[in-house]
Amino acid sequence: MIPPLKNKSIGLISLGCAKNLVDSEVLMKQLESSKFQILFEPETLQGIDTIIINTCGFISDAKQESVDTILHYAEAKRAGNINRLFLMGCLTERYRQELTLEIPEADGVFGVNELPEILHEVGGEYRHNLLGERTITTPSHYAYLKIAEGCDRTCSFCAIPMIRGAHKSKAMEEIIAEATYLAGAGVKELLVISQDTTFYGLDLYGRRRLADLLRGLAAINGIEWIRIHYTYPHAFPLEVLDVIRDHPNICNYIDIPLQHINNRILRSMKRGMTGDKTRKLLETIRKTIPGVTIRTTFITGYPGETGSDFDELCRFVESSRFDRLGVFTYSHEEGTPAFKLRDTLPSRIKSQRQAHLMKIQEQISLERNQHQVGKEIKVLVDREEEEFWVGRSEADSPEVDQEILIKKSASTVNAGNFHQVRITEARFFDLLGEISG
Ligand code: SF4
Repeated sequence: MIPPLKNKSIGLISLGCAKNLVDSEVLMKQLESSKFQILFEPETLQGIDTIIINTCGFISDAKQESVDTILHYAEAKRAGNINRLFLMGCLTERYRQELTLEIPEADGVFGVNELPEILHEVGGEYRHNLLGERTITTPSHYAYLKIAEGCDRTCSFCAIPMIRGAHKSKAMEEIIAEATYLAGAGVKELLVISQDTTFYGLDLYGRRRLADLLRGLAAINGIEWIRIHYTYPHAFPLEVLDVIRDHPNICNYIDIPLQHINNRILRSMKRGMTGDKTRKLLETIRKTIPGVTIRTTFITGYPGETGSDFDELCRFVESSRFDRLGVFTYSHEEGTPAFKLRDTLPSRIKSQRQAHLMKIQEQISLERNQHQVGKEIKVLVDREEEEFWVGRSEADSPEVDQEILIKKSASTVNAGNFHQVRITEARFFDLLGEISG
């Protein structure tokens, strides 16, 4: 029996990735239209009736964070500090039964595709006419734009397809309408996301249509930067590269998770790629878009990764000189195809390999940054800190990439505006600069 509302104040906690954040933002808009007052990631529980946690269930660290957060608020409910607790998202989709049994404090446990049901249980009403509208929680000048749900790939290490289901592209008109709405709300930078953006359209239109979608987005008034994340290397639609190169408001930036370079590991990961195909694709990307920024991610400690497989990966990172790099340690997830393999490497080795790759990248990043010193670049200012304004260039996505620290001066600088900045100093993963115009 769900306790009756004492007041209409809801605290919403959003864990995990940007795709989850978009779901939280959609929920917020719906709740607000049902006259709830929403506090996003509140610092105190004072006056809050209900807590909703949008959980993440991707890999072990993320699952642990979700479980810790749930336990924290279950305790708050037992102590009488909140009246009601609801859980939703990837972890609950994956472990619904267990959580329902083990967290009796939860007044409702929902998966990833149950927006109307959550609203109903919480005491609101789902409004179809709000389709495409969200309450933005990022700084108002940028927003994530989710173009699809789910994933049709079968990467052996990944739990996402079993959590989020098959790939389901959103209709192009719907996405354009959402982006136009965001531009009208003051958004200048769109971050295009889904589990696999290069797959976009295949399920809905019978062919890959990311290039068409980008053309449509680039024509929206007020959008100055469009940035593409999560492109999948296998069957990469090369037309996308021409569209990026030919549109000044699409960033010369590609996020392309490669995961490994060794053929045997790639085959076991079921990535549909080989080392040679990967190298060739990178060459094509760099040739087609001169000066492109390439961001990638790798996994260390996949089952059976030998010392020499890892050396091969290190040499590849050294020679490829990626602009931006992230490294994850392998997480042995039940239900994934790789779970049938033996998780051979201790977590200490996985972490050592992760640190080693980042050490290699540190030097590459520093050298790349040193080349920027003396140049003048266009920077979007994200926020003000005590000593600096903090912003990003076209080469950097929020949260995951480096930042530019702009020395405070007499110039008028506002968060959300573009400024010309002269780079004065390079650090490993940051740049320093001053306003030049
Ligand atoms: S592309 Fe692969 S790694 Fe990415 S969500 Fe799909 S299955 Fe997982």
